[in-house]
Amino acid sequence: MSGYLRIRWTITPGTAPRPLINCNRCGTVKPYRCSGKFRVNANGKRIDAWLIYRCVDCDNSWNFGILERCSRRDIEPARLAALESNDPGLARRHAFDVIALRSQVRRVEEFPDVAVCKDVLGGIQENAGALELHLKAGVLTSLRLDRLLACELGISRSRLQALEDKQRLAVHPDGIKALRKSAREGAVIRINLAAEPDRKDIISAAGG
Ligand SMILES: [Zn+2]
Repeated sequence: MSGYLRIRWTITPGTAPRPLINCNRCGTVKPYRCSGKFRVNANGKRIDAWLIYRCVDCDNSWNFGILERCSRRDIEPARLAALESNDPGLARRHAFDVIALRSQVRRVEEFPDVAVCKDVLGGIQENAGALELHLKAGVLTSLRLDRLLACELGISRSRLQALEDKQRLAVHPDGIKALRKSAREGAVIRINLAAEPDRKDIISAAGG
C-alpha cells in the first residue's frame, strides 16, 4: 500500500448555538443570541453566574446558568476573575457548550458552519496514495463528520459511503459510526485513495 500523508485539521465553529425562547416581550418563540457578557452575583459566600443572551428582535434578556449557589471556595480565583471581566474565551466556551444549553432550554438552534485550518504533519507528500486526517476541535461542533469530510475534500457523501463500503475509509477511535456523529477532538480518519483517479485533487483539497 502507498504511504499516508498526515494532515491536521483544526476546526473552529463559526456561529454559536442559539436557544429558542418564548420571548415574553415579542409574544412568540424567538432565537436568543449570546451577548458575550456574564452576570455574576456574589452573595456572601455563594456565587451565581449566568451568561446573558438577548432576543434577536427585541433585546429582551435570558440568563444561561453557569454557576448556581456555588461556594466561593470551590471556584478558582482565575475563573471568577474571567467571569467578572467577561473574558471572551470563557464566554465562547460556554456559548458553544450545547449540551449544557440543552439542559436548560428545550429547543436550541445549531449551526454547522466551521472554519478549518489545514497543516501537513508529515508522511509522504509526493504521490501519496492515502490520507490520514487528525482532527483538532477545541469546542464542540454540531457538524457531522461525514459532512465535514465531504465539504472539505470536495467529494460527495455517497462517494464517502462507497469508500467506506470498500473498507478504504476508517475512523479512530470510534469506528465508522463516528461518520454520522459530530466531528470530535482527537478523531483520526484514514482514507485510501490509491484507486481514485482524482486523488491529487482530493489530497490537495485536504491541505496536502
Ligand atoms: Zn423578543
